Amino acid sequence: MMHGLRRIVSTEDEKPNLTWPLVKRVLGYAKPYRLQLVSMLGLIFTGSGLHLINPLIFREMIDKTIPAGDVKRLIFLACALLLVALFDGVVSVLQRRLSAIVGEGVIRDLRLELYGHLQRMSLRFFTNTKTGELMSRLNNDVVGAQNAVTNTMVQMVSYFVQAVAMLGIMLALEWRLTLVSLVVLPLFLIVVKKLSKQLRAIVRRQLEANASMNAMMSETLNIGGALLVKLFGRQMVETDRFGKRANQVKDQGVLRAQTGSIFMAISMVLAAVGTALVYGLGGYFVIRGEFSIGTIVAFTSYLVSLYGSIQMLSNAPVDFMSSLVSFERVFEVIDLPPEIEEKPDAVVLKDVKGELRFENVTFTYQIGDEHLLSDVHRYGSMESVSTVLSEGEREAAEEERISQARGNALENVSFCVEPGKLVALVGPSGAGKTTLTYLIPRLYDPTEGSIYIDGVNLRDVKLESLSSQIGMVTQETYLFHDTIRTNLLYSRLDATQEEIEDACRAANIHDFIRELPEGYDTVVGERGYRLSGGEKQRISLARVILKDPRILVLDEATSSLDSESEALIQEALKRVMHHRTSIVIAHRLSTILAADTILVIDRGKIIESGTHPELLEMNGVYANLYHTQFRKREQTDRR
Ligand code: ADP
Repeated sequence: MMHGLRRIVSTEDEKPNLTWPLVKRVLGYAKPYRLQLVSMLGLIFTGSGLHLINPLIFREMIDKTIPAGDVKRLIFLACALLLVALFDGVVSVLQRRLSAIVGEGVIRDLRLELYGHLQRMSLRFFTNTKTGELMSRLNNDVVGAQNAVTNTMVQMVSYFVQAVAMLGIMLALEWRLTLVSLVVLPLFLIVVKKLSKQLRAIVRRQLEANASMNAMMSETLNIGGALLVKLFGRQMVETDRFGKRANQVKDQGVLRAQTGSIFMAISMVLAAVGTALVYGLGGYFVIRGEFSIGTIVAFTSYLVSLYGSIQMLSNAPVDFMSSLVSFERVFEVIDLPPEIEEKPDAVVLKDVKGELRFENVTFTYQIGDEHLLSDVHRYGSMESVSTVLSEGEREAAEEERISQARGNALENVSFCVEPGKLVALVGPSGAGKTTLTYLIPRLYDPTEGSIYIDGVNLRDVKLESLSSQIGMVTQETYLFHDTIRTNLLYSRLDATQEEIEDACRAANIHDFIRELPEGYDTVVGERGYRLSGGEKQRISLARVILKDPRILVLDEATSSLDSESEALIQEALKRVMHHRTSIVIAHRLSTILAADTILVIDRGKIIESGTHPELLEMNGVYANLYHTQFRKREQTDRR
């Protein structure tokens, strides 16, 4: 599949891809700003008109007023020059303001759409996508994209209007000279065509290199990554790796600047050729007495403006193309279909009793790239991403993909939990316990088979109502960098202080929080107050208690805590599980003993199930696990 993709991509490689649907889609982002855009057009026409006046005033001064010695008229004309400049200033300020309103608006719209879409993406997407890459699209690309709508589209219109106006007035002044001055035009167009194609490829590579650099920054500069780098003394290696990426960004940046300046230089030479021709020929005509000096002065000042407009006009498609690249990169993300989708006729899960049933559930972690970012590089080149990666890194990535291509993580799993009962999942590591729990809140959908809550298939349920019924406590508790109160409120925004405190009491954490320097207003999370593992767990229990779900999914901590913490957690857990259907990945003997059913899972299958005495009786895998693991752990915990 990968190979097929590469092939398709490389044949499309950097073809100018200015398709109508793409342009239409881009224009769609300008639509809400119609009014501003129309006003902007009005200002552009006004501005262009103003630019036509000055040369005519010059001609009048040189040919008539000065020779006639008419001082009064001279002063009047000089004042007119000043007025034109003032008016022009006002017009351009207004135009900039409108342009900023539209530009920033488009950035906001695009960002919001992108962020909203990312929120609907599956867990698999986030497991497989680098945060930095996403940041890059939300920042650099979005900003690059708005450029297409405001700067370049507006510029194109404004320079076009100006060029046409200049040409018209030049033809009226002296048509022969005008034709001479246009000799260089075809050359302009050839240069533009050649360079714009190159520039588009460079811009795409630059954005990709940027994204790759950002991805690396976010991977190595967070706490986990930084710790790993330090522990293994890999600062130099990482700096080297970063250097490579930074170099890529630099190289493409230099190339971009260079290509841009070559274009500028060539067009300036071409303009000089035109100007030389006009002055030469025009001067000759003046000597022969065919035109006045004023006409030549006016004509050449129009000519300079005309060339300026044409230069900008020819540059605009280049800029527009670069901005389109950014649009494409944003669209690539927006077009990724969310894997877990709500059916249009999904039902709201309410008054849930809490019966949970797995029916022949098989689940495989997908190895394919669909629904992932790398898969949809359809607009441009994927090869250029890999040029940023070294040979070794590419091999490692390939190996990672292959290692994920193992069999089913869950195979034909069926079981049923009655409302309010406790099920303990036990089994060796890698057996599929976590995977099983992830299917309950629909972080993933079963590959085959179905899961039912109170007899309703999870696939037919509104996602929000499902999540409101399920409380999940994972091993690693994630807390936002915010106050404890805000973190707790995350599960129920309208909880009162009293309810919060009740939940914390039930989770045995209230007294601890009260003794913190700022109580419930203490800031926690990555860069905040460092809570111990046990404290974090109890906060996450309090969060779940506040949510009050019918079904509780819990991954018990494997690390042993000190016995006091342990006792506090066990006690809290008992309260949380009471009257709730609970699925627990159990590591504590007490939990297993309290379970109504124990499911023993190995290699994705339920191999034994029953209560503790029943399973011991069987003298199978569970009995073995019990003797080798649980009993021992309990003894160490007691000590
Ligand atoms: P347990 O919780 O019992 O230790 P898991 O459910 O975490 O086991 O894992 C079951 C199997 O699925 C393991 O072989 C693991 O390597 C694999 N696995 C887990 N998560 C992913 C993932 N995101 N992508 C691919 N394979 C995964």
